[in-house]
Amino acid sequence: MTTGKINVQTENIFPIIKKFLYSDHEIFLRELVSNAVDATQKLKTLTAIGEAKGDLGDIKVEVIINKEEKTLTIRDKGIGMTAEEIEKYITQIAFSGAEEFVNKYKDKTPETNAIIGHFGLGFYSGFMVAKKIEILSLSHKEGSKAVRWECDGSPEYNIEEATKETRGTDIILHIAEDSEEFLEQERIDHLLHKYCKFLPVEIKFGTKKEGEKDKEVEVDNVINNPSPAWTKKPADLNDEDYKSFYRELYPMNFEDPLFHIHLNVDYPFNLTGILYFPRIKKSFEIQKDKIQLYSNQVFVTDSVENIVPDFLGLLQGVIDSPDIPLNVSRSYLQSDANVKKISAHITKKVADKLEEIFKKDRADFESKWEDIKVFVQYGMLSEEKFYEKAQKFALLKNTEGVYSTLEEYAEKVKVAQTDKDKKVIYLYTTNVDEQHSFIETAKERGYDVIVFDSPIDSHYINQLEQKLGNTSFVRVDADVIDKIIKKEESQPSKLSEDDQKALKPIVEETVPKEKFTVVFESLSEKDAPMLITKPEFMRRMKDMSAMGGGMAFYGSMPEMHNLVVNSNHPLISKILNEKDLDKKKQLTKQTADLAMLSQGLLKGEELTKFIKRSVDLID
Ligand code: ADP
Repeated sequence: MTTGKINVQTENIFPIIKKFLYSDHEIFLRELVSNAVDATQKLKTLTAIGEAKGDLGDIKVEVIINKEEKTLTIRDKGIGMTAEEIEKYITQIAFSGAEEFVNKYKDKTPETNAIIGHFGLGFYSGFMVAKKIEILSLSHKEGSKAVRWECDGSPEYNIEEATKETRGTDIILHIAEDSEEFLEQERIDHLLHKYCKFLPVEIKFGTKKEGEKDKEVEVDNVINNPSPAWTKKPADLNDEDYKSFYRELYPMNFEDPLFHIHLNVDYPFNLTGILYFPRIKKSFEIQKDKIQLYSNQVFVTDSVENIVPDFLGLLQGVIDSPDIPLNVSRSYLQSDANVKKISAHITKKVADKLEEIFKKDRADFESKWEDIKVFVQYGMLSEEKFYEKAQKFALLKNTEGVYSTLEEYAEKVKVAQTDKDKKVIYLYTTNVDEQHSFIETAKERGYDVIVFDSPIDSHYINQLEQKLGNTSFVRVDADVIDKIIKKEESQPSKLSEDDQKALKPIVEETVPKEKFTVVFESLSEKDAPMLITKPEFMRRMKDMSAMGGGMAFYGSMPEMHNLVVNSNHPLISKILNEKDLDKKKQLTKQTADLAMLSQGLLKGEELTKFIKRSVDLID
């Protein structure tokens, strides 16, 4: 037996490793299982090129819990290590990695470093949960002797000859008292499913029963699918394969995705993956089935914020890239050039795929539009590059259910909806039922009305206004239609200013002052005698405030309306000329109530009174 001392400046690094990796103790299992997988892959390669002799045989990796001994063993049948290799790779090279980590982080507080789990501590991360680690290994090299290495978390270690019949390495963790959760079948099963689900070598898992000899341990619980769909060629997969992989990825999600994008890049960086478009609900629900990030089939994280643009976070699926530096902090990731390129690439791919579906089968694209619209708009709002591509296929839907691209729409309304100042006015509705009468009036003029009914639309409208130039979006009920799209100077009013002054206080009595402004407009005789409108600017600000941000001030303002009196309507002249004051007031109230009624604003006592008054008037 030899006793060695790990060459450390820091007196005892293991307590430090433990302290600083606190938030992510479970990572040790990923690290050790991926080492086992690496060792197996290396052997496969060596065998393939003839450098390793002998049969590969069974090469599965096994994870075994032994409750009696309080050990957790990770066993591979890979290349194994000789005593010299253990000295070199474990006590020198791997250790220096661990030491570097400690030197970097020992002065920081654990809270601010929850990210450390992404630091590749490799082998030594085992000391987060073990008070002692044994390595029992037999190298694949001919004539090798088995070797045992042992270290209890102090810089001292033992290394000695041992007996081991089968090629490969056992990493035996003697689990520390405060980490006994890692001797629980369920806990390990959960972790293996989380981190090892798609590792490229078969992983089996079992618990040693009492009295059972090591060899007999049943490890028949297969954890992983070693060749997940994203590692295959798109040509070898059909639609059903993609769907079944989706179910494998998200077993609790019972809805099929809308479509998928298979990513496959090898220059200037390596990236594979499959992204899925789920049916995105109108509101921004927090999605639980998120994109998962892998590095060579090892699960890294499913919080991809800052790695892919936020709007891509609405997608699902897998991204696998050995080029994403996983062992560093998130803030570093954001600024990493590779990560930026990857983001840009995915954004482009997604836009290309959408364009492809749009061009290939427009009807199909239109049928999916309501489900992908939030995604596309969010992308257009957040990424300039995406906007450029998406403007070709982003659709506007009108009240008849007809879809147009931005360009088609501009063409469609160009003539009819240009006002006297040569500005093009796009009319829209946020609620087809509530704004029905306004939509009808607009249609009578030959105008088109777009449906914008999701929360993101108010932002999208602002963006389109900036991008399209010379175009204003106005909600159909923002004003009377001939004021929204002014074709010529307004017609002369039939009421003199004195008439209006005389009538105004009577009209004002009919509605609550703090919420309504009474205005006179000379509209067509055919328009309603009175109308309720919601001025565009105030309403938009209120909509935006509902989305949060710095607009909260507007949210606290009362909902403002205009009560528009059509000074050219015969009924208004009639009211004006009515000599009996009571009758005059009654007619005014009745007319104002009709306007309120058409907007769904007449409620409660006011509605009851209105009905009663109507009956009286009919009498
Ligand atoms: P990394 O895996 O990042 O290189 P580790 O600390 O995990 O760092 O491991 C250090 C080295 O020890 C590995 O590169 C490998 O050469 C060797 N090693 C670790 N585990 C095994 C194993 N199960 N079989 C063979 N070699 C191993």
